[in-house]
Amino acid sequence: MNTSVIIDNNTQNIEDIFIHLKKNATTIKKTSVKERIKKLEKLEHYILDHRDEIHEAIYKDLKKHPVEVDTSEVLTIVGLIRHTKKHLKSWMKPNKVSTPLSMLGTSSYVLHEPKGVCLIIAPWNYPFYLAISPLIYAIAAGNTVAIKPSELSEHTSLYIQKMISMLYSIDEVVVILGGVDVSTTLLKQKFNHIFFTGSSNVGKVVMKAAVNNLASVTLELGGKSPTVICKDADLKDASDKITWGKFLNAGQTCIAPDYALIHKSVEKEFVEQMTNTINEFYSPNGELIKASPDLCRIINKDHFNRLKGLLEDASEKGATIIMNGEMDEATKYMPPTLVTNVTNDMRLMQEEIFGPIYPIKSYDKIEEAFEIIEEKEKPLALYIFAKKKKTIKKVLQNTTAGGTCINETILHINNPDLPFGGINNSGIGKSHGKYGFVGFSNQRAVLKNRVGLTSVKPVYPPYGKLASKLTDFIIKYF
Ligand code: NAD
Repeated sequence: MNTSVIIDNNTQNIEDIFIHLKKNATTIKKTSVKERIKKLEKLEHYILDHRDEIHEAIYKDLKKHPVEVDTSEVLTIVGLIRHTKKHLKSWMKPNKVSTPLSMLGTSSYVLHEPKGVCLIIAPWNYPFYLAISPLIYAIAAGNTVAIKPSELSEHTSLYIQKMISMLYSIDEVVVILGGVDVSTTLLKQKFNHIFFTGSSNVGKVVMKAAVNNLASVTLELGGKSPTVICKDADLKDASDKITWGKFLNAGQTCIAPDYALIHKSVEKEFVEQMTNTINEFYSPNGELIKASPDLCRIINKDHFNRLKGLLEDASEKGATIIMNGEMDEATKYMPPTLVTNVTNDMRLMQEEIFGPIYPIKSYDKIEEAFEIIEEKEKPLALYIFAKKKKTIKKVLQNTTAGGTCINETILHINNPDLPFGGINNSGIGKSHGKYGFVGFSNQRAVLKNRVGLTSVKPVYPPYGKLASKLTDFIIKYF
């Protein structure tokens, strides 16, 4: 169990903590598959045995329903742990590779060894899941780890610190609480790998800091994830899936459908359908949506006012706001809101929304949708709603994204055999499953000479005619 308590915003201890983690890294590196699985099992059992406490902490931060905490935080983590336990032995096995004829007499393999001391910096929106899921892979790969959860989700962050202190020693896994000061001090330490989840702007700060120590990075960032709704889409089905994906966590989800591009001929019907679905989900008996226990609140007043500002800007520029109820700043409640008559100059179409507002923009020709997507940064996710295979293929070929669901939203994050992450502005590197394990590992190339001789020996200096003939031969035939 951890013996020292890390006080909020105490940056003085950080250097010492790092030294402890570094000293212990060589021991942790040598841990076996069994030992690492045991560590993951401890985490799994603790989470399952303390679900109520996790529900309570996240409720205090986001007013999130326990079922939503289970589906989007607890079960996802437990699923990733179980998947890792099942596959860790094969991931850790030296990976034999083939030997080219020109290298006769040797054999080669790839060894996955831990990177060493790793830093995980997490955001507030899925405060438990996003701090703990990278930890699974950091542990599986045999690293020592420091975690810095978000200062904005303070109850969950405190809970994570308590949980980790019960499970691991301070020179193995440690949680350091605090804000930008603490993050900045941590980033000055010589971590071998930094796993950052957060905004693209802070991602750049992290990458710049990593350059000083040439630390490798995984950056899980944000951005605008479009939904392309084609004229042949099943509108009822699309409406169900988009309403769920958009208003989950009150839209504060990195892969939430950010805005819709819809064929003009079905726009009106879709907006009506989505308005109905919102009522079916959050007001099944005609009560005020605000009374629904199933909708989260906005994390703080700054974000609430940022969202309000996006709506004011859109309204001033001629948008139609379809708000299902009234906003309430005191309780940070923002109703599920659709916006139509959207133009590209609106902030809603330029900034990541990260809240329960869904702009819907129509197109005549699908190429217009491609143009809108293309002129923005590459998205973390892109969703396609269409029936025809040819249409789906066309959307896939004309766009790019970190991940895509076809006739679905969000769920690609739940398959641990799929890589999760963005591209450029929406992220660098991938996580989940084997990809997560590899992200926290150094893929060490090992070549072994089996017979003493190598086919390369004849080209050692002094370079004579034989060497020159041999290189000619190799260039020609291999
Ligand atoms: P954020 O970038 O403001 O903060 C993330 C973390 O970085 C926090 O722990 C914070 O303390 C720290 N931080 C903030 N400013 C810093 C600085 N100047 N230097 C060093 N550290 C700093 O992000 P957020 O508001 O917590 O989260 C929302 C963003 O995260 C959205 O853009 C969202 O899309 C993105 N996100 C991405 C994913 C993903 O998996 N790709 C998941 C969740 C959230």
